[in-house]
Amino acid sequence: ISEVLDSGNVSYQQLLNELFAPGFDKGSCLSRYEAILYRKPSPHKPSLYLIAKLRTYESLHNHCGPYTESYNKTLEQLKSGRNIGTTGCNYVVYTPLSGLGNMMLSVASAFLYAFLTNRVLLVEFGREIADLFCEPFPNTTWLLPMDFPLRNQFENFRQEYPRTYGNMLKKRIINISMKSPPPAFLYLYLAYNIDRYDELFYCDQNQDQLQKVPWLVIKSNQYFVPSLFLVPSFHQELSKLFPDQETVFHHVGRYLFQPSNEAWGLITRFYQAYLSKADERIGIQVRVFDTKTTPFQTVMDQILSCTLKDKLLPEVLDVHNSVASLSNNQSLKAVLVTSLYSEYYEYIKGMYWTRPTVSGEVIGVFQPSHEEHELYGNKMHSMKAWTEIYLLSMSDVLITSSWSTFGYVAQSLGSLKPWILYRPFNGTTPDPPCVQAMSMEPCFHFPPRYGCKAKVNIDEGAIVPHVKHCEDVGWGLKLV
Ligand code: GDP
Repeated sequence: ISEVLDSGNVSYQQLLNELFAPGFDKGSCLSRYEAILYRKPSPHKPSLYLIAKLRTYESLHNHCGPYTESYNKTLEQLKSGRNIGTTGCNYVVYTPLSGLGNMMLSVASAFLYAFLTNRVLLVEFGREIADLFCEPFPNTTWLLPMDFPLRNQFENFRQEYPRTYGNMLKKRIINISMKSPPPAFLYLYLAYNIDRYDELFYCDQNQDQLQKVPWLVIKSNQYFVPSLFLVPSFHQELSKLFPDQETVFHHVGRYLFQPSNEAWGLITRFYQAYLSKADERIGIQVRVFDTKTTPFQTVMDQILSCTLKDKLLPEVLDVHNSVASLSNNQSLKAVLVTSLYSEYYEYIKGMYWTRPTVSGEVIGVFQPSHEEHELYGNKMHSMKAWTEIYLLSMSDVLITSSWSTFGYVAQSLGSLKPWILYRPFNGTTPDPPCVQAMSMEPCFHFPPRYGCKAKVNIDEGAIVPHVKHCEDVGWGLKLV
């Protein structure tokens, strides 16, 4: 591998479409250089404008990153509680909520927001998350220092926390007319249950106000990028950065989230052992949100109905004793199943082991782990989740579950338009069982509904042609 990369015929820059800055230490993040050897090159080139802006962002992050002179100065304002004007450095501090998929989507959204407003992004990750990824920006860190003064307030930071921007607007502690000096910091609550005051974040007038606040702490578990496209003052810049709107998470996600060496070991060993030799790789992501109301057989029937109907997988002969003739098509398909449970994998593996396929194709079925329960704060659990998201993104064909951010991350990183399994209700298999996604972008599950100008609820899926309602979440928004 290193010979290929060091041969000098292709520079790292060319290999990676120039998304990454030169000057990284290769050994500290092998995936950044080796990913190209495992996955198909992206069919989507980032715009030159995006590349240039990323380099500008990286210098800003270098200038303002943790413990730089400017960082220390801006921190003084936070400690004294007084906003004494600009130091040239303003920040978005991201604090997580929910599982890995939700977190990756909201970090990418917070990064894009920071990017648009000339702020530096710092993330509050525990070791169990920090160890999954390489540092994305050269010669600095994106990790929020342990001694950051507001850290001890973060656990109180929920929707009802009095110091959120929404609550301060509601109680008229701050108002939009800007009579009082802007505070040194504000909490922005942008999660699944925002109210109409939190939603004012998405209004231009409020963005003008926020611009003067050096520290913005964001708590989110949402992919709120589609609504940034609906903020008039961001729209033009976003269109220049992403002439193809469908590629936002594809580029931002690939830029920010490269597997750490430990994660890369898990990914590449599994890939080489089970997936690399296949003629085609099919990922099936089975996310069951409520096992009581969604029985196994209902979901299994749905998966088979979707994959067989759309010819994603071959049918099997109804006989056990036939042997596929050697003259048949003997191509090898590898099916990667990811799920918290093992029963879906067992069923599909058993089906293709005990019976021959009609087409003669040979089907191998694999599942890296079955963790049974979601866990928080456990490094190996998160490492497996990240590995599986990444392996799914290396598929040629992807089937995902409705509502799952785990699947969204995989589809966008892999530039795939997945077949989405509709969410079963009342224990019955939906008809049709699945639908192919319009675009590879993730869905913003809980977008704002309160129009800034109209002052009444509006349909945000009807404002511009490239922001539509999602296939799996009727009121959600996605870029197409
Ligand atoms: P979502 O809840 O489906 O939107 O996805 P999230 O990633 O936000 O949260 C689900 C969490 O459950 C993951 O982060 C994992 O911790 C765990 N999980 C769910 N499905 C799987 C799976 O297929 N494999 C593994 N290893 N973990 C999973």
